[in-house]
Amino acid sequence: METVFSKIIEGSIPASKVFENERILAFYDIEPAAPVHVLIIPKKFIASMNDVTPEDLPLIGEIHAVAQQIAVELGIADSGYRLINNCGPDSGQAVPHLHYHLLGGAKLGALVG
Ligand code: ADP
Repeated sequence: METVFSKIIEGSIPASKVFENERILAFYDIEPAAPVHVLIIPKKFIASMNDVTPEDLPLIGEIHAVAQQIAVELGIADSGYRLINNCGPDSGQAVPHLHYHLLGGAKLGALVG
């Protein structure tokens, strides 16, 4: 499915990349909700967390490893951060391509609301 994120993956929309390998891309969110706000996405199209299959689990694990590495590189590992996935309408998921928000660099507010 074509989304803003598939266009970033293929390079037709620019992004400020933080990490990239054959399977995963991470880039700065265009509307940061915290001093550090990075999106981490699989290059494989997965619409949402509802669509993750058992064969995707190594990829999901690698996303966590990439988040851990980025947190160290951006200096928020010790102060702390959140890794958030929004799934479906009630969560506010706006882009139907699985992605994780890595947020940090300040004391973060309450999760719900
Ligand atoms: P929400 O917009 O409620 O956070 P999502 O969880 O679907 O919903 O997150 C989509 C994220 O993608 C948003 O934080 C938005 O700012 C970001 N975004 C949209 N377009 C771009 C873009 N071209 N480059 C970087 N980030 C983008």
